[in-house]
Amino acid sequence: MTVTGPSRPARWRLSAKLLVASTLITIVGFSAVCVSVMVNMRHGEAELARQTSENLASSIDADISRNIELFDLSLRAVVTNLLSPEIKSVSRELRHLILFDHAATAQHFGAIQVFGPDGRLLIDASTLDPAPASAIDDEYFTIQRDNANLGLFISRPMMHRGAYSIVLSRRIVNADGSFAGVAAGAIRFSYFHELFGRLRMDPEDTITVMRNDGIVIMRTPFDPAAIGRDARANPATRRALAEPNGIATAVSGLDGIERQFVWRGGDKPLVVVVGKSWNSIYALWRTQAQRIAAVMALLIGFAVAGTLFLGSEMSRRARAEDSLEELAITDALTGLRNRRKFDQALELEWRRAERSGTPLALLMIDADDFKSYNDRFGHQAGDQALFALAGCIAVVARRPGDCAARYGGEEFALLLPGLNATAALQIAETICRSVAALNIEHAPLTVSVGVAALTPFNGLATTDLIAAADKALYAAKANGRNQARLAANAQIALVA
Ligand code: GH3
Ligand code: MG
Ligand code: MG
Repeated sequence: MTVTGPSRPARWRLSAKLLVASTLITIVGFSAVCVSVMVNMRHGEAELARQTSENLASSIDADISRNIELFDLSLRAVVTNLLSPEIKSVSRELRHLILFDHAATAQHFGAIQVFGPDGRLLIDASTLDPAPASAIDDEYFTIQRDNANLGLFISRPMMHRGAYSIVLSRRIVNADGSFAGVAAGAIRFSYFHELFGRLRMDPEDTITVMRNDGIVIMRTPFDPAAIGRDARANPATRRALAEPNGIATAVSGLDGIERQFVWRGGDKPLVVVVGKSWNSIYALWRTQAQRIAAVMALLIGFAVAGTLFLGSEMSRRARAEDSLEELAITDALTGLRNRRKFDQALELEWRRAERSGTPLALLMIDADDFKSYNDRFGHQAGDQALFALAGCIAVVARRPGDCAARYGGEEFALLLPGLNATAALQIAETICRSVAALNIEHAPLTVSVGVAALTPFNGLATTDLIAAADKALYAAKANGRNQARLAANAQIALVA
């Protein structure tokens, strides 16, 4: 049978591949853009959180540092003025006025007290007649007594005069350098509570104020278990105590939450560490990312569904076109190729034979006395006989390029590229024999076959081949039918 070339399935496969490739490229490109936008958004959230925490830590550090500095200035004033010789000669009231400025009486500040070298309370800023008291057992007293160069000492959080506080102390030194006592005063926890109470924070956010040896002074949310604890087990704390300011990620030892920690004042007596949980940093981003991912999944789903639909539509159309084309080239009664297809195949094979210099054989096959067969048994029986006859022709057209066609009425044509006259004649005789041997219902049927074969060359046309085969057919008819005859044309016989 004639092969029309693989153009249609190949074109369909190419279109399908292009469709799938363009969908894939669109999906991958679109996903890449979305993912990069989401990653950038995530970075942005972390950066924003860092800035917010830095600003918060800076302002808290500034507030605490200012208050400690103020309080320390008052302590220094006491320490310096107390030992001046003039102060001994003034009255107790005047001495009070000279020693204690009003800064140390601010809200949340406890009154400054002066203790003698034996720990006994000597002077109290809040009263001219203090009740007898001793600081001999207090850490802030013993540590100042035992360390000459401590400077300002900030105690662990402790109960001091009925309020939870940190006690700030300085050593009083005689002119000869000997220990003369301790000046101390407290900053009450109410100060921190008020400072942190003003802030609006996420439930998982923390602010920790630490002494520069890692002892937690204050933490918000307030956790009594955390106060006074040594936080150096946390790597972020160790870095915070070593660098003036910075940022780190660590898991809190208290609640196991992973946070971004930002600190300020690593080089000062008190360090402020602001912790923001990654969970809360990414909370907004997570919702947005989920929304974008959902929309993305939806769009990808649409794209895939659309591609599948278009693909199936394309294959359906390709199949429909194939069957339409098949219909357009097939003879409805016999199932062989029709005349239109035969003419195309003849042109194609002629050019091919011309190029390759190979022979081309044509068999013209005509049913014998078919008019009388019709007249005797009717047109339906005639049609059945034609169908059976076509089967005998179709079986010998086995190679690609062979074309068995109904030429018109009870006449058939068989195009056999590459076959010379002798081989074509053998096939013609095979057809004659197999038709004659057909077991047809009403009466036996025979065919006459005209055979022509030639190698195309300049000056010859397809019509010459048809005419030669036709002539041979007439010769077969004239010679008594039920036989095959080779074209007698000298030129054609010679070439073939
Ligand atoms: P010859 O041996 O010389 O070819 O004699 P013939 O009777 O076959 O030739 P003729 O050309 O006189 O008659 C051909 C007949 O074929 C006429 C027509 O009725 C019949 N025929 C053509 N096409 C069909 C068809 O499709 N179906 C049927 N049943 N008969 C057909
Ligand atoms: Mg006939
Ligand atoms: Mg005829």
